[in-house]
Amino acid sequence: MDRTLATDLARLPELLEATRRAAADALEALDARPVVPPAGPPRAPEPLPEHACGTESALTAFAERWAPRLSASAGPRYLGFVTGGATPAALAGDWLTAVHDQNSNSALDGAGQDLERETIGWLRDLFGLTDAHTGTFVSGATMSNTTGLAIAREWLGERLGVCPSEDGAAALGPVRVLSGAPHSSIAKALSVLGLGRGSLVAVPTLPGREAVDPAALDRALADTPGPAVVVANAGTVNTVDFDDLRAIAALRERHAFWLHTDAAFGAFAALSPEHAHLADGLDASDSVCVDLHKWLNVPYDSAVQFTRRQDLQARVFQNAAAYLGPLGEHPDLVHLTPENSHRLRALAAWFTLRAYGRQGHREIVERDIACARAFGAALERDPAFRLLAPVRLNVVCFTLAEDPTAARLAALREAAQGEVFVTPTVYAGTPALRAAFSNWRTTRADVRRAAQALRTAAKGTA
Ligand SMILES: *Cc1c(COP(=O)(O)O)cnc(C)c1O
Repeated sequence: MDRTLATDLARLPELLEATRRAAADALEALDARPVVPPAGPPRAPEPLPEHACGTESALTAFAERWAPRLSASAGPRYLGFVTGGATPAALAGDWLTAVHDQNSNSALDGAGQDLERETIGWLRDLFGLTDAHTGTFVSGATMSNTTGLAIAREWLGERLGVCPSEDGAAALGPVRVLSGAPHSSIAKALSVLGLGRGSLVAVPTLPGREAVDPAALDRALADTPGPAVVVANAGTVNTVDFDDLRAIAALRERHAFWLHTDAAFGAFAALSPEHAHLADGLDASDSVCVDLHKWLNVPYDSAVQFTRRQDLQARVFQNAAAYLGPLGEHPDLVHLTPENSHRLRALAAWFTLRAYGRQGHREIVERDIACARAFGAALERDPAFRLLAPVRLNVVCFTLAEDPTAARLAALREAAQGEVFVTPTVYAGTPALRAAFSNWRTTRADVRRAAQALRTAAKGTA
């Protein structure tokens, strides 16, 4: 063994302690440091080290060279995209995931799979799904959408008497995927799956909304020759609008379609009795996408894919090999997702659900919603800003009242990003900004700081 590596092995507890200190210091500093630090001058990449220098030296180099440049994305005023943090228990679970370093995909060494299945059961319960849905962990909502639509593709084959997983997507002929306001990852998934971005058909939304018009969807389905795929949206990223999932499911009485619901963060509405109606009918979906590294507040990268047709899922993703077991009634995870080897990513979710339960996570969701509302109200009171949509759940979509050009909004964003980070969008043709509340740390004090920072920035950039 290399001498430095042997020394690291001998000093492992001490090195873990040093790492723990670095972690605690970084988390302690989250509130005071810039949310997004100024970029600073570009630095040339360093060459690959030739000789071992050990973990302590790497810790020092990281602390000097990289840590100060990272954003406080784990903190309470990083409101860009839809970004969660990591609860204390989730963080502990994530550390232990690396410690145990399991490749949990086969019954030949099955404890990891069993832990994942227990966690899936808890998540199903959290989102009001029944055991008609099985679930698997994947790396994010994009991968969850891709997996759900891969199962949809196989279902289309079943209806048409062909087998895309054997014969290729071309065996299906032209496919139509109908959706009102789908997330960009849906088009990416369709590209990956060989159905093509062009298979996505935009169905009109309700007036002034991002929710699909069920009557228009009914007509679009009637115009579709053969079976279709419908992507329902439960929580759009701009205005967190929800399709009427029950109305969409009811269309199955007249049309044959696979119903995939992208509920990446909208599924968490189910945790709040006041908002649970938004996600009513989620259980009727044939496949469901839920992100966990957003509102469950587990570290990247974690999401779940639920489906009612695990048999079709195994047809798509089976990884037949002499050294792996047969498919059987409960296929190993290696036969169910795009990855073969993967980390025990369920453990962080297991930890946070075990530690805080339904009520603990309900409190996070309800506090974030209350913060979004308070932030929206603060901007509404300020003549410099106007909201572009009501605050339906946890996102505030707003713009400058006067002359809201993309350039002015970029200047505003950058002037404020030491205190609050928001991201740009275009809503109904108007350049805008979004503030998404999904971090477990965010409080009303953060809302006041964030609103104040934007107010000051708007004055400075006027
Ligand atoms: C975030 C998001 C996605 C993509 O999620 P990733 O985790 O970034 O892959 C898909 N759909 C919706 C509605 C989202 O909010």
